[in-house]
Amino acid sequence: MSDTTVTRQQTALIEIQQTLPALAWTTDPARIARLSQDFSWFSPVLKRILEGKVADGVVRPRDEAELREVVGACARQDVPITMRGGGTGNYGQATPLHGGVVIDMSDLKRVAWIRDGMGRAQTGIRLADFDQQARPAGWELRCVPSTFRMASLGGLFGGGFGGIGSINYGPLASPGTILGVSAMTVEPEPRLIELRGAEALMQHHAWGTNGIVVEIELALAPAANWHEAIYTFSSADDCLEFANQLALGPGIAKKNICVWMDPIPRYLPRLTEYLPAGQHAVGVVLAPSSLAAARALAEGLGGKQTYEDSTEQAIRQNRTVMEHTWNHTTLHALKEDSGITYLQLSFTAGQHLEQVKRLRATFGDEVMLHLEFIRGLDGHTTCTSLPLMRFVSEDHLNEVIRRIREMGVRVNNPHVKVVEDGKFGGSVPPELVALKRRFDPRGLLNPGKLKSWVQAGMEMTGAQ
Ligand SMILES: Cc1cc2nc3c(=O)[nH]c(=O)nc-3n(C[C@H](O)[C@H](O)[C@H](O)COP(=O)(O)OP(=O)(O)OC[C@H]3O[C@@H](n4cnc5c(N)ncnc54)[C@H](O)[C@@H]3O)c2cc1C
Repeated sequence: MSDTTVTRQQTALIEIQQTLPALAWTTDPARIARLSQDFSWFSPVLKRILEGKVADGVVRPRDEAELREVVGACARQDVPITMRGGGTGNYGQATPLHGGVVIDMSDLKRVAWIRDGMGRAQTGIRLADFDQQARPAGWELRCVPSTFRMASLGGLFGGGFGGIGSINYGPLASPGTILGVSAMTVEPEPRLIELRGAEALMQHHAWGTNGIVVEIELALAPAANWHEAIYTFSSADDCLEFANQLALGPGIAKKNICVWMDPIPRYLPRLTEYLPAGQHAVGVVLAPSSLAAARALAEGLGGKQTYEDSTEQAIRQNRTVMEHTWNHTTLHALKEDSGITYLQLSFTAGQHLEQVKRLRATFGDEVMLHLEFIRGLDGHTTCTSLPLMRFVSEDHLNEVIRRIREMGVRVNNPHVKVVEDGKFGGSVPPELVALKRRFDPRGLLNPGKLKSWVQAGMEMTGAQ
């Protein structure tokens, strides 16, 4: 994009700010820079690519009417829009590549209704708040990322995968969880359109490129009083066997099963007293009724229970197992050693234990394995991994990815800046791009992030 375009955009934004002075604009450059970032710094590659990418301004609409006003004004003036929830995404998804406005959705947080195992809320609501509001009615969210305290419903839908709870319900994309969305078009007179079922899922993980999602309706799970525990093992095989049996066990009521293979426990200082040096560990979130069976299973395999608490109490004390799972393991490791980075792997159900063992035998501590058990989209139980590794160079990283793929293990590369190259494995369904044509005909939403749109020559048609 040329300098003249940037200047035109900035001038246009000043005009919008003058036309809509009552909106909550952020003008402080340091704050704008902060609100242009997410957790892409986990990746040294993305850190380099996204360096210096900032919005020209940030606005926080207080309600749907204000959202509509700012979106309409941006459409009229061809100003790019990047949507932001909690800003905890890992791929620079909420970082604007071409300036423009970041729309901070955190004030659109109203729960519309909760009943019969379903709920509907505005997308700026934090997941922990939605969960809290569902509990009095006997329900909770089916799956949340380990960032549930900060992350928003819209951000999970727009940029996430699933997480804690995916052991029961699979990823968020499993049909039956997302029931519908209400999304706004980016047009001079924005319209709200309701998408249901499979069509709604075409806006999932699209990084806010093909619609502004204002409300989400989703299926909930029966609420439970979860507990958490840690089990440690000196044998890696026994540790894996335990986690797998727990994951498969139909009588075990669970919400998360996470494995930290040695040496990963050394990167989790808040749990040190429960993680003896040199041991492999399994951190779980289970129903209280399943704790005795889990302990017996662990002991039968030579393991030992080192910790147990209610999740509610552990959250209050800021040492919950939940905030050590998924990419929180990576976060804690990065705090201990900034030279570390990570990958995202998924194993084939039924072959997953063998694949994990082969990976360990091949790479040793070069790829330190942290596993998360889930049910896949097909319902089969398997595990995924967010392994830690030392960042040596981009070439080394790509070589490790190539070797892992050669072993038949899927790698969703987290060091990429476009929608297609991550979990979509190179290309997105044509329906996802078709929705962009419908919701964002001028290509103003998060420009540069949807490769198919750029390749079709549609990028920023109005702004060029
Ligand atoms: C420590 C750590 C742990 C994590 N663990 C997990 C995990 O367990 N599971 C998981 O899936 N992810 C995980 N993540 C990634 C991230 O936290 C989650 O995906 C989270 O749900 C993102 O929500 P957010 O509100 O922070 O989204 P943001 O980062 O604000 O946005 C994410 C994407 O969604 C888009 N978006 C936001 N709101 C809207 C909207 N209203 N309409 C359209 N697009 C929108 C944004 O433009 C952006 O592209 C983790 C990240 C970190 C840093």
